[in-house]
Amino acid sequence: MPSSFKPRTAILGAGRHATVAAVLFSFAVVVAVVTMMVLSALDHVAQKSNILDDERSRETVSGALQNFVSQLGATLNDYAAWDDAATNVYATDGMDWTVSNYGEMSVNSALFDMAVVIDDDKKPIMVYRDGKPMDGSLQAFFSPALWTLFDKAKTAGPQDVPEASGFISTQAGIAVAGVALVREKSGALVAAPGKHRYLIFIRHLDARKIDEIGATYVIGGLKLVPADYAATYSVPIADALGTSLGKLIWTSRAPGDIGYADVRRQVVQAICLVGLFFVVLLIIGWMTGRRLKTEETNAREEAHRDRLSGLLNRDGLRVSVDALVAAAKQTQDNVLLLYLDLDGFKEVNDSYGHGTGDQLIRAVAAGLKVLIPDGAVLARIGGDEFAIAFTSRDGDASALQLSEHILDFLAEPLEIGRRVVVIGASIGIAVSAGGGVDREELVRRADLAMYKAKEAGRARMTLYDPAMDADREERNALELDLRMAIEGGQLTLAYQPLVDAVTSDMVGVEALVRWNRPGHGPVSPEVFIPVAETSGLIEALGLFVLRKACETAKEWPELRVAVNVSPGQFRNPAFTDYVRHVLRHTEIEAKRVTLEVTEGYMIQNPKRTRQAIEQLKTLGVRIALDDFGSGFSSIGYLRQFGFDRIKIDRSLVKDIEESDSQREMLKATVALARSLDIPVTAEGIETPEQASAVRQFGCDTLQGFFFGRPMPAEDITELLLDARARQSGGRRVSAA
Ligand code: C2E
Ligand code: MG
Ligand code: MG
Repeated sequence: MPSSFKPRTAILGAGRHATVAAVLFSFAVVVAVVTMMVLSALDHVAQKSNILDDERSRETVSGALQNFVSQLGATLNDYAAWDDAATNVYATDGMDWTVSNYGEMSVNSALFDMAVVIDDDKKPIMVYRDGKPMDGSLQAFFSPALWTLFDKAKTAGPQDVPEASGFISTQAGIAVAGVALVREKSGALVAAPGKHRYLIFIRHLDARKIDEIGATYVIGGLKLVPADYAATYSVPIADALGTSLGKLIWTSRAPGDIGYADVRRQVVQAICLVGLFFVVLLIIGWMTGRRLKTEETNAREEAHRDRLSGLLNRDGLRVSVDALVAAAKQTQDNVLLLYLDLDGFKEVNDSYGHGTGDQLIRAVAAGLKVLIPDGAVLARIGGDEFAIAFTSRDGDASALQLSEHILDFLAEPLEIGRRVVVIGASIGIAVSAGGGVDREELVRRADLAMYKAKEAGRARMTLYDPAMDADREERNALELDLRMAIEGGQLTLAYQPLVDAVTSDMVGVEALVRWNRPGHGPVSPEVFIPVAETSGLIEALGLFVLRKACETAKEWPELRVAVNVSPGQFRNPAFTDYVRHVLRHTEIEAKRVTLEVTEGYMIQNPKRTRQAIEQLKTLGVRIALDDFGSGFSSIGYLRQFGFDRIKIDRSLVKDIEESDSQREMLKATVALARSLDIPVTAEGIETPEQASAVRQFGCDTLQGFFFGRPMPAEDITELLLDARARQSGGRRVSAA
């Protein structure tokens, strides 16, 4: 994982935790608020219920007091509207009856504790309290309200009951008093007005009476308090004159509070349970979310990863380089991008199969991982292409150094299973100074630089240079023109004579492709063949050359024809079939055809080369190793391929006249080639001295400007006609 990914993941994680904490916190607040609302509603209900209960208690107490008054009134009525009383109370000797029926009845009576008989002038006739006569002034003992009741009874009209009752105060406390005219049950009265007598019953509201009321009406803590006593609920007691005498209060039963207390715990428990349920839901949801997030992250990372190597893929590189460039804009660091193309990977794949190819990729990935600096991004962006990106404060020095290490590492033969493969790499480097070059352009530059490295001959690194863009454009234009030239049949062939070293007779020709590019003039095959190779045009071009050369050579039965074959063609498994097809089509004798291959390809793909050579040889064609001595391979190594001929490279021949060491080198090289018992051709012979030297060293065939430049087919035909003429004694005969 590149380091640039880590902080993002960490920030994501922290953000997620913060969100969860916020949700949990809000949730706790909601639960608390809901709990408070429910409890407050319950409290409200409890208060309401308390108020209702107190209200009811007040009504009950008030009713009880009224009842108290009416009870006394009813008792008084029984005793006052009584025929016996109407007789005895008015009789002069009726005092005994009055005392025994009224006065003495006041002892231990629940109904009244005082019985008083007075006349119209309020003069007491009998005053008894608790069954005993009571002395003293009635005016002093009773409050004036009694006399209000008395006046009411006394002044009652003929239709009214001459009775009145209500609360008064006495020297003994608050009491209910009733005043009634003593009369017959029917209401009749013998005594004239002014001679009337009144019965007064008093019942004190003493502690016993209050307790009794409390018990009867189930009012707890009922008690009498002064009128100015502060109480929320009370029943006032007032006399007939409206004077407040006191009030009754009681202990509130507060049923709401009791119910509330009972239910509160259950409600809190229920809310907590609901809360817990939601917390569990939340946690499950959060965990599910987290799992999905993880899966999504994994999927995204998976999408950014190359399965085979475990490195980032092209998409992963894109994201990472974007991040590096964005970061570099802040830090003003440089972003360095290396594009790396393995040389010879395709051949390993072709020769040993994809299993080995895969192992090779993994081995290279593992090696690169060790070599790259800390925090660098490593990606596999194609079959055999890798990319490395990192930031650095110095310019391109670190990238060049890293490239060198990578090239050194890849120059070593790699052991893949039981096989040893030799690859290499071409590396392109581009720099985004201070993040000034965006990812797309950076990638384009690194890719272009890599192409240049490959073109320049592989196993090397190239730093992007703006001039490359112009080159690239020119190259693209060239490729386009070449494509048109191939399709339009504008390519031609030149033939260069190959002569016998001893007789100097022409024994063969080498076919060399020629292109007169419109608007540019002739272009060297050394320029356009590499373009054809990298653009895939080589197949069509190679096929054209082979076909044309074979067709033309049919007119020269005494000559062999050599055709150059590019690695690009050789690599194609169908190449043998092409050759077979062309041989059959042109009806040329296979043994007259020589295919020239260069050594570069052999070294990269010995097995594949051997197979291809074996297959081609079954067709009957010859295989020559071209440009021998220009590369680095040992002759011993090349022995295994079974070449039919070796061509000594022109570069070895060039300076032999001036330099003894060059001469020695050429001599040794030819000797080496000859040691394999393979016939040797010398190329690039320009002077008679060179010709005699190579002849002397043992080359059997010679080629070069000295014997003949590459020329049109007609010129070869001319030469042949001359040769035939010479052989047949000066007469020219037809070439065919
Ligand atoms: P090569 O196969 O080694 O071909 C010989 C090259 O040496 C030719 O260059 C030829 O013109 C040149 N040459 C021959 N004798 C002399 C000499 O005495 N002095 C000097 N200075 N040069 C001499 P050319 O035609 O430019 O071809 C260059 C290379 O292009 C060839 O090297 C071959 O590798 C490639 N090539 C040419 N035609 C074809 C083709 O049809 N197919 C493929 N695949 N490659 C081709
Ligand atoms: Mg050649
Ligand atoms: Mg050559």
